[in-house]
Amino acid sequence: MIQVNDTDTPNMIRRYGGLIYGDLAHQRSQTDESAGQKSPDATKVAKALMTAYDLLLGHFGPQNWWPAETPFEVALGAILTQQVSWRNVEQAINNLKRLGLLDPQKIRSLPLETLEDLIRPTGFYKTKAKKVKAFVDFLCERYDGSMDTMFKTPPEDLRKALLSVYGIGPETADSILLYAGGVPVFVVDAYTLRLLERFDLQGNDLTYERVQSLFQAALPRDATLFNEFHALIVALCKNICRLSDPKCKICPVVRICSYGRRVSYRGGESETGDTASLPKGSSDTKSLPKRRLSKRRRRANAARMAPCEGAM
Ligand code: SF4
Repeated sequence: MIQVNDTDTPNMIRRYGGLIYGDLAHQRSQTDESAGQKSPDATKVAKALMTAYDLLLGHFGPQNWWPAETPFEVALGAILTQQVSWRNVEQAINNLKRLGLLDPQKIRSLPLETLEDLIRPTGFYKTKAKKVKAFVDFLCERYDGSMDTMFKTPPEDLRKALLSVYGIGPETADSILLYAGGVPVFVVDAYTLRLLERFDLQGNDLTYERVQSLFQAALPRDATLFNEFHALIVALCKNICRLSDPKCKICPVVRICSYGRRVSYRGGESETGDTASLPKGSSDTKSLPKRRLSKRRRRANAARMAPCEGAM
């Protein structure tokens, strides 16, 4: 059920309202109870991810994603944001809004060249115009142009159907399912991959599905949690955990990050003088992980992800 709170977040769609710590604490205790049946690694990952979530939420606060007024606008934004920043997407969506064209049937009727001009700020506009056309064709032919009707399809079937549409890969499909439909699927992007690698929580096989399964197995299956967590990861990686020169000294999750601990506690003590958060048994830097991020490996991992999709 969609809950829109225009008072708190004008122009934002909030399908589940804000996060409630009590609910999450309850869900977490349920996870902890069942954690006894999980492998030690799964328990370690679950605890690390939930700790990361709490620290990120405490640092950045609720992100109130997705910035859109309707589920269709979310879907359109999910397609247009591939390989471009959100600011550019806003310009394109505003172009459509200004002309009253933010409607599946109207976009379907638009000449391709007109659509290309309107979404030009998003880059790759010729390809993206074809992708948008493919999506509105899909929506109109199968669901009479109604996102509500589309979301009556069982989520697994709908995911498969979305993935069959030209230009919709796993990240876009899952963004539509989660942020437009409130379906509890975890959205994986290049930022998620970067964080897992720096936390040293991932295995060697970093496919989209494997990373998604890791999060979904470790966390309570909750759309509100997935919504907020993905948005918080984006906030962290855009502002602090950058590809080059991550700002580990000011990072809220440094205590659970292998890369950050290695940098911050070089020499056996924190650069900030905070030794209280040193991981147990790691006062000696020899016990800290020594693996460095490999550019070649990052590129190989990124290539295995949906190649047409980029982090927002
Ligand atoms: S500690 Fe450093 S590497 Fe780790 S998440 Fe924070 S900024 Fe990124």
